[in-house]
Amino acid sequence: FMRYNELKYILDSRMKMTVVLGAQWGDEGKGKVVDLLAMDADIVCRCQGGNNAGHTVVVDSVEYDFHLLPSGVLNKKAVSFIGNGVVIHLPGLFDEAKKNLEKGKGRVNASADAIHKRHVICFLWPLVFNFHQAVDGLQEQQREQQEGKNLGTTKKGIGPAYSSKAARNGLRICDLVSDFKVFEEKFRMLATHFQMMYRNLNVDIEAELQQLKIYAEKLRPLVTDGVYFMHKALTGPSKRILVEGANAALLDIDFGTYPFVTSSNCTVGGVCTGLGVPPSHVGRVYGVVKAYTTRVGVGAFPTEQDNETGDLLQSRGREFGVTTGRRRRCGWLDLILVRYAHMVNGFSAIALTKLDILDTLPEIKVGVAYEVDGHPLPSFPANMDVLTRVTVEYKTLPGWQCSTEAARSFDELPSQAQNYIRFIEDFLQVPVKWVGVGKSRESMIKLF
Ligand code: GDP
Repeated sequence: FMRYNELKYILDSRMKMTVVLGAQWGDEGKGKVVDLLAMDADIVCRCQGGNNAGHTVVVDSVEYDFHLLPSGVLNKKAVSFIGNGVVIHLPGLFDEAKKNLEKGKGRVNASADAIHKRHVICFLWPLVFNFHQAVDGLQEQQREQQEGKNLGTTKKGIGPAYSSKAARNGLRICDLVSDFKVFEEKFRMLATHFQMMYRNLNVDIEAELQQLKIYAEKLRPLVTDGVYFMHKALTGPSKRILVEGANAALLDIDFGTYPFVTSSNCTVGGVCTGLGVPPSHVGRVYGVVKAYTTRVGVGAFPTEQDNETGDLLQSRGREFGVTTGRRRRCGWLDLILVRYAHMVNGFSAIALTKLDILDTLPEIKVGVAYEVDGHPLPSFPANMDVLTRVTVEYKTLPGWQCSTEAARSFDELPSQAQNYIRFIEDFLQVPVKWVGVGKSRESMIKLF
């Protein structure tokens, strides 16, 4: 029986989830890849992060932005499942649903009523409260005063909420939808705890409790045992399940460029711990790689181009944050970094986005090796002290200097662009499955 079970997992690809993960520092265009795959998914899941991440998806010229809801909600047939690994700020969730619903005029299945059938919430959700968000801001202020630098968090309370979870005094959705009196007591204790730690913190406990009580009523019917839900989905009648990663490999709390990272695991392990599923159900893992590199906020960035090239990438690529509006730093594609992300995630294939942004460049550089103090480094040093000191060896490839926006197949791309793609595949030893040449759904070229 045991042997049979093992064999079953290998053979039965129906039981595997498809995962989409960011392979750089975020903002790779995961939203668009997820949207593409979600078109025929039965369940779309989020497994980590909070509303600090933002995905932009353009459908029929309407631009949606998602922070907590899976971008897959644009598929009206799919059920969206938000797993236990995600931290949730309830006012944020309701605002987002409302905003996108108005934009989509019925296309987004996130209305308070429609939410019933198509949205499933894991009862282990850790909650983000308003005071977590306020504390996020105060912590950034403190870091600024003490060290003259901040982490550049989005001040959405994600870090403090994950801290509460790890400190084991956090509250979860199952607490909220159970006996409200007990919840209220715990909430007051937690708020007081933060007030004692931060003297400048103003918490309107009564107002927040009132609001939470309303949310509790609205959400109660959607809250379910997430582990059981996913188990049934994976072992029952065949379902196509898509998992949408937020943030990205280099922002992972363990493997990223610590401390300038987010507070969750945005690499493949987070899929299992954030949904409550065994690793044997993880199927294809797609890495989303932007054709160049960007980074938000401070921290080492070896291939950064603080010059005209960087400005060009920034303006052509419209590199501004969805959540914060911050200008993103830009530089050449760093393949040492992407290879590191591949080591951790084991990508089955890559979606290469925003190739069209490179259209005007006469030549294009790609980071292929790092050296520190004259010695080559075998891998990407996630340790910041080393990373700040590396020098990058580049491979220079010819540009194509014409528009790729109208291309709809690999053959229609200029030969230099084809070479660029093949070079990336050869270096990483991972096939490129899609190439993005524009914002719309149609401008995603499928290679195989
Ligand atoms: P995410 O968080 O990884 O989903 O990335 P963002 O939403 O922050 O950034 C993606 C941005 O790039 C969005 O505005 C997309 O519409 C846009 N985008 C995605 N793929 C492409 C592409 O291939 N070409 C161009 N020009 N824009 C793209």
